[in-house]
Amino acid sequence: MRADAFLDEALAARQAAGLRRSLRIVDGAQGPRIQFEGRAVVSFSSNDYLGLAAHPALAEAAARAAHEHGVGAGASRLISGSMRPHHELEERLAAFKGTERCLLFTSGYHANLGTIQALVGDGDAVFSDELNHASLIDGCRLSRAAVHVYRHRDVDDLAALLRNVRGRRKLIVTDSVFSMDGDTAPLATLCSLAEQYGAMVMVDEAHATGVVGSRGAGLVEALGLEERVTVQMGTLGKALGCFGAYVAGSDALVEYLVNFARTFVYTTALPPPVVAAAAAALHIVEREPQRRESLTRNGARLQEGLKELGYRTSAEVGHIVPIVIGDADETMRLSDALLADGVLALGIRPPTVPPGSARIRATVMATHTDADVEHALSAFAVARSAFGAGAAWLGSART
Ligand code: PMP
Repeated sequence: MRADAFLDEALAARQAAGLRRSLRIVDGAQGPRIQFEGRAVVSFSSNDYLGLAAHPALAEAAARAAHEHGVGAGASRLISGSMRPHHELEERLAAFKGTERCLLFTSGYHANLGTIQALVGDGDAVFSDELNHASLIDGCRLSRAAVHVYRHRDVDDLAALLRNVRGRRKLIVTDSVFSMDGDTAPLATLCSLAEQYGAMVMVDEAHATGVVGSRGAGLVEALGLEERVTVQMGTLGKALGCFGAYVAGSDALVEYLVNFARTFVYTTALPPPVVAAAAAALHIVEREPQRRESLTRNGARLQEGLKELGYRTSAEVGHIVPIVIGDADETMRLSDALLADGVLALGIRPPTVPPGSARIRATVMATHTDADVEHALSAFAVARSAFGAGAAWLGSART
């Protein structure tokens, strides 16, 4: 037997379980309306919540930076020197997040892996919400700390674990807005528990940065917890429309990560054009709160319309609207039916979500028009009648 025979076998098994994934081509830029596999669709599948990924101001900033600073950073910032645009963006992000300092990472995945692995290790304990993003889960595993998973948003479960666990250092890690459910972590209680048990708190604001809070700085800002959260991590690739990530916190935290976070030390720095584009995006986030208002309005309309059609959906924040179907095949059939009507709302299947909780994760953008949202709702209406009353995940339509 060939040594790599398992490749085909594993793929066939995923196929048989209805869980095989494949890449599908987009022509042109990302946005509310895209060319997906050669056809025009309205996209409800992007994290470009504010519609900045193809904004001309970002493209211009990137082009200018490419000419002034070059395309590549040359090496890790500790090796080839730390370029000025990176420092400028870090200062602005720290001011935005209300922290002493901020450090850029080359992706959210890297930021989570490197930060957790630097903060805890052998003999320490990390406490992780069961629905945390894969990059937090992998960071916990990589750290070699004992990992204690608590039930989703269950502060009593967490308190019991904290009471019973001994560890040199303790770290609680959580998404602020959960990426697949659109609900939020009970951050104030997590901070109180952390203070009671001498733990640090790390919050992943990937889906809140630019979107949540009156300034768009995230859930920590919305709840006024800047002084009580040890690590505020966020990404530049979602609402900020670019790529990369940041960790915001104390001066000591940033100095420590510069020295101990392996995904900072041992990887090439973000390209200057990306950094400049992110700075331009931050400028827009700070000056155009109306984008957050449109996002909220679009999310509310989508949710309300789906409920009227009998879809069960619940999301605390407006921009992530999950419709949990359960069965993976049925989820993909619904997604295909929507696509046939020109609406891209991809199905999310295990292992991204727990077994038996496959879902459509519809995300809205500030730049969706009312007509885009109505288009989606009419596609959901057509799909609803195709699936009929037999589908357990459909409630009764409100007429
Ligand atoms: N954290 C969360 C909650 C995320 O959803 C994601 C991306 N899907 C990441 C971290 C990773 O960020 P990046 O895409 O920048 O690697």
